[in-house]
Amino acid sequence: MNACLASDWFMGGPVVFTALVGLGVMLMALWVSRQRYFPGREIFIVLHLGILWWLTAAGLELAAQAPDCKVFWASMAWPGIVGVPTFWAVFLWQYVNSIREPLSLRGYLALTIAPLLASCLALSNPWHQLFYGPGTMPVDGAPGSPIRYDHGLLFNIVAVYVYVFMLFCLAVVTRAALASQGLHRRHYLAFVLVTCVPWVANFAYVGYGWTLFGFDPTPFSFAFTLVAFAFLILGVRLFDLLPVARHLLLEELPDPVLVIDPRQRVIDANPAALELAGLCSEWQGRPLADWPVYGDDLALMLRTPESGKEQLLALASSSRYFEVRCRDIERATRNGPFVLGQILYLRDVSERHCSELKLAEALATSEERLRTITRLHEQMQEQALCDPLTGLYNRRYLNDFFSRELARSQREQTPIALALIDLDHFKQLNDRYGHLVGDDVLKAVAGHLSHNLRSSDAVFRIGGEEFLLILPGATGDEAYARLDGLCGSLAGSPLPTRDGPVSVTLSAGMAVWPTQGQALEELMQVADAALYEAKRNGRNQVRGWPSLSLRCAEPSAPASVR
Ligand code: GH3
Ligand code: MG
Ligand code: MG
Repeated sequence: MNACLASDWFMGGPVVFTALVGLGVMLMALWVSRQRYFPGREIFIVLHLGILWWLTAAGLELAAQAPDCKVFWASMAWPGIVGVPTFWAVFLWQYVNSIREPLSLRGYLALTIAPLLASCLALSNPWHQLFYGPGTMPVDGAPGSPIRYDHGLLFNIVAVYVYVFMLFCLAVVTRAALASQGLHRRHYLAFVLVTCVPWVANFAYVGYGWTLFGFDPTPFSFAFTLVAFAFLILGVRLFDLLPVARHLLLEELPDPVLVIDPRQRVIDANPAALELAGLCSEWQGRPLADWPVYGDDLALMLRTPESGKEQLLALASSSRYFEVRCRDIERATRNGPFVLGQILYLRDVSERHCSELKLAEALATSEERLRTITRLHEQMQEQALCDPLTGLYNRRYLNDFFSRELARSQREQTPIALALIDLDHFKQLNDRYGHLVGDDVLKAVAGHLSHNLRSSDAVFRIGGEEFLLILPGATGDEAYARLDGLCGSLAGSPLPTRDGPVSVTLSAGMAVWPTQGQALEELMQVADAALYEAKRNGRNQVRGWPSLSLRCAEPSAPASVR
């Protein structure tokens, strides 16, 4: 080596060019080392050093004049020649797979074995001639002319080793291009193209003897490839941009976001999550259950997940509500997805939830009001159909009731009995005891009639002291007997009034459907006629059914018992 250093040099144009390229590579290594982190950055810088080594050896080979020295410097290039594709492959693998852990020292050492071995084999060539064969000699007799190398067996073995790595590089970027989409795919396709450049240069040199200044163009093409890669990675900043944008988004997000590991320790949390918990330091790695304010509830939620549903986290202390979404963070492995942890996204739904609560409250109030209105409506309807003094149905309900009962009787072929009842000498009673006592008597009579009816029967107050009884299913005889009972019991029991018990009697005229009429009007006319007859015959009796005509029992006591 010393001899070669002391031998003749010629600093021609190609040497200057090589030195400039080398200088450029060195500056770029410096620049890259100061740039933002990207996966595989350390290896990328090592790659620059490898190229620099290679170019330096190439420059020295070009400058050296003695053929032996040229071969010597060519042999010195081998750490770079083998190292560059090796580290290239590692760099691409780390970059494409976003592996951020730097290569271990052991890894570096393992990867430098082959380059060093190749150098040893090349440098020891004068002893074995297996790397460069005996045909290795200058192209012509001119001083400093390039060497034509006779590639030996060891050279070819090392070349295969190098090609395997280069093939691997091509496979890695091609696979990445195929697996990605859109902008990423274009990015990786550019990678594929750039990776092909050294291949083409090497192929042109080995296959067609194409040279640059009579020299192997591969190191120059690698230098170009490095520049292109640096531009794609750091100039375009595609892969930097996304993580930074995502990080910024997370930082700015007003909703809390937490990242937890499989042991439920908080690995990351955005400012919103820290603010909600009231934490600002010493939180990383803390178990989720120990987080203030909401950690306990969140941990409980994770223990009892409701599949496919967002759970609601209610913070009673601050009246805030969060919809909790939980997503697994997975990494695809050969044995299926491997869960690295979980991301918890707490969407603040306090406003929406409060609105929902208010809405529910308003709905409940409306429902309550609706119930009141319905009740009032029913009351009004009942009041409209009922007589306010006695509580009995009035004439308005009569038609409805009778039509229904008529339909049923027609269906079931059963009779309906109807009776018109009029209190006797009621005017006199009013005159004698006063109107209020008369009212009391009317109420008591209503009670008396209702009390003695069956559930299917109905009693209506159709006039001042006139009542109508409808007895569905009762035959004429049955109705007559029951009316007689009513008549007799009324006459036999004085009614309570505000001025003491008062006796009153009734007269009734009855009619039976279908024997004595078909329509209500018709039946009422028949009953009215019978009532008239009862009045004419002395009152306190039931008339109308052909078979019987009863006079009720005489009042048990004088009209008034005070
Ligand atoms: P008759 O035996 O012929 O039926 O004689 P009467 O006096 O009962 O018949 P009339 O039709 O002459 O009189 C009915 C009376 O009923 C007249 C009216 O003052 C009274 N009356 C009508 N409605 C009410 C009421 O709501 N309260 C009271 N206290 N009396 C009423
Ligand atoms: Mg009357
Ligand atoms: Mg009367």
